[in-house]
Amino acid sequence: MSFTPIKKLGQHFLTDPALIDILIQLLCPRKNQHWLEIGAGLGALTRPLTPLVKRLDVVEIDHRLIKTLKETLPTPTLIFHEQDVLRFNLNSIASIPRSLYICGNLPYQISTPLLFHIFEELPLIHSLFFMLQKEVVERLAANPGEKSYGRLTVHTQYYCQVIPLIDVPPHAFSPPPKVRSAFVKLIPYSPPLYPPVDEKLFHDIIQQAFMARRKALRNALKKWLSPIDFEHLAISPQARPDQLTVAEYVRICQHLFR
Ligand code: SAM
Repeated sequence: MSFTPIKKLGQHFLTDPALIDILIQLLCPRKNQHWLEIGAGLGALTRPLTPLVKRLDVVEIDHRLIKTLKETLPTPTLIFHEQDVLRFNLNSIASIPRSLYICGNLPYQISTPLLFHIFEELPLIHSLFFMLQKEVVERLAANPGEKSYGRLTVHTQYYCQVIPLIDVPPHAFSPPPKVRSAFVKLIPYSPPLYPPVDEKLFHDIIQQAFMARRKALRNALKKWLSPIDFEHLAISPQARPDQLTVAEYVRICQHLFR
C-alpha cells in the first residue's frame, strides 16, 4: 500500500475481498435507502455500497483519503463530508424518522464516544452496523452478572437491540490491529422498549453504579436511594450494580423522577 496509515486515526483498512462481500451481504443494502458510512478509508466498503443504494454520505476526517476517494469515485449519489464524526450532526443530512442506515469499520479509539454521540440522534436511524473491537461488542451484548456487563451495555440496550454478527480476525485488515474485531448490528427500538427516563439522571446513576460495580447497591447508590426506596422498588439493596437489568435501572430513574 503506498498510503501511510495514521495510527491515532485507527487506520486499519479492510483488504480481504471475501470478507468485504460478506459484510456487504450483512448490510443488505437496497436501492431506496439512504446510508451513512463513518470512516471511509480507502473505500473498501464505500466502493461496493455506492451503486447499491439511493444515497451514500461519507464522513472521513483524513483529507488525503477524501481527496483520493473524490478522484476515484466521482458519483453524484456519493456525498463526502471531511469532518470529525464526533462533531457531525445527522440532522444535517436526514430529516425523516428511521430513514438512515449507518455503517462503519470504526476507528476503535472513538467507538464509545461515537456510540454516545449517536444515541442523541437515534430517531433518525433505522439501523447501524459497526466493526468494533470484539471486547466492545461483548460489552454491548452482555447480560447482567457477566464480566462485560457495564455502563455501555445498559445505555446501548436501553436504546437498541444488539445483534452480534461475525468475528473478524486481525489479518483481515492492513495493517492488522492488535485486537480481535467483530461486526455488530444495532436496531434502535421503535417504539422505545423502555419507558422514557430523565437522560441526565439515567446517565449519572449508571455512571455512579458502575464506578462501584463490586459494592452493594445500597452503598453504590446511597446518594439517591434510601432503604425505603429499595423496598418500594423491590430491588435488593445487597445486589451489586452489575446484577441489575436495564429495566431495573429504568425503574430506579422513574422512581426518583416522580
Ligand atoms: N472503511 C475503511 C475500511 O474498512 O477499510 C476504513 C476503516 S479505518 C478502521 C477507520 C477510518 O476512520 C479511517 O479512514 C480514519 O481516517 C477514519 N477516522 C478516524 N477518526 C475519525 C473521525 N473522528 N471522524 C471521521 N473519520 C475518522
